Amino acid sequence: MKAALLKSPGELVITQVPDPQLPPKGLVVKVEACSICATDIKMFRHGQRDLIYPRILGHEIAGVVTETSTGDIPFKRGERVQIAPGISCNRCLACQRGAPNQCDHIGIFGFTHHGGFAQYLAVPTQSIACGGVNLIPSGITFVEATFAEPLACCLNGQELVRLDSQDVVLILGAGPMGCLHTMLARAKGVRQILLVERSLKRLTMAIKAKPSRLINVSKENLKEVVKEETEGRGVDVIMLTCPESAIDYPILELLAPRGRVCFFSGLPQEKRQLYFDANFLHYREITFVGAYGCTADQNRLALEFMASGKVNVNWLVTKRISLEALHDGINCLTGHDCLKVVVTEF
Ligand SMILES: [Zn+2]
Ligand SMILES: [Zn+2]
Repeated sequence: MKAALLKSPGELVITQVPDPQLPPKGLVVKVEACSICATDIKMFRHGQRDLIYPRILGHEIAGVVTETSTGDIPFKRGERVQIAPGISCNRCLACQRGAPNQCDHIGIFGFTHHGGFAQYLAVPTQSIACGGVNLIPSGITFVEATFAEPLACCLNGQELVRLDSQDVVLILGAGPMGCLHTMLARAKGVRQILLVERSLKRLTMAIKAKPSRLINVSKENLKEVVKEETEGRGVDVIMLTCPESAIDYPILELLAPRGRVCFFSGLPQEKRQLYFDANFLHYREITFVGAYGCTADQNRLALEFMASGKVNVNWLVTKRISLEALHDGINCLTGHDCLKVVVTEF
C-alpha cells in the first residue's frame, strides 16, 4: 500500500510499504481521512518524545472497517470509525485512575504504531479494548470525524484547567487548536473568550471562531486589553496553544487571583525553562497545569459535541489533499496559509 513514512527527522517519503496484517482480534481500517496536526510537523522537523522510527505518521484518523478477526469483535466490515490515537493498557494505576493518556505502557498511532497517512491501518485488539475505536455518528463526515482527536485534546486541557462558564479565558494562539478551544469554551457556556494572535493571516481566518474579542498583539497591548475587558481584575484562565506564546508575554500579570494557566502546547527546547515569581503563585493562589493528548472517552465526547451541532469544525478545513501532496500540506500550514489540511485521497 501507499504510505507517508518518516524515516528520520526531515526524511518523510511517500512510498510503498507492505499491506498491514490483520492483528489477532483486531481490525484493518481503510483510511478515508487523516488531518495534519502541528505535532506531525514537529515530528517531521525535530522528532518527538514518543516517536519511534521508521513511522507512518498521522493520528487524526477516520475510515471504514475492511477486515475483522473472527470471534468476539464489536465491529463489522463497512462500519465508519474514528480511531483515538492512544492505546492504553487498562491495568496500570494511571489507567485505573482515569488518566489513560498517561498510561505506563501507552502506544500511540502515528508515534509508536503506524498511523493514518496510509491507505490502510492495522488496529490492534488493545485499541478496541481501551475504547479507542468509535463509531462515527450519522451526519458526521469522515473529514469532521478527524477533528475528534484535536477536539478531545481541547476537552482534556479545559477539564484539567477546570474551565468554568463564569471564567474569562484568554487563549494564546489563533491556530486550529486556539480556534477549537474558542468554540469548545463557547459550547460549554463560557461567555468571555479572548483570542490572541500576531499573524495577520491567522487573525483573518480566526474571526470565524467567534471569540468575544480577537486581539492582534502586533498592534494592541495585551495587558491594556485584558485590563479593559476585565475591569482591571485579570483573566481566570490562560490557555497556551502555541509554542511561541509562553514567554512572549509576562503572562502571570494577566491573571486574576486563583487564575489558572494551562500548558497545552509543548515548548521548544530553548524556551522550555521558564522563570517566574513563586511568591506571586503563593499569594494569589495561581495554578499551573499541563495537558498532553486525550483519552478515548474524550474522543467519543468530542464526536458527540460535533454530532449535536455544538461545535462546527468544517470552516477550519482550508485544504483537502492527496497523500502525495503531504509536503505541500505541511508547507501550507507552516506558512499560516491554512488552518487545517486533511488528506482525503490515498
Ligand atoms: Zn493531533
Ligand atoms: Zn495503563
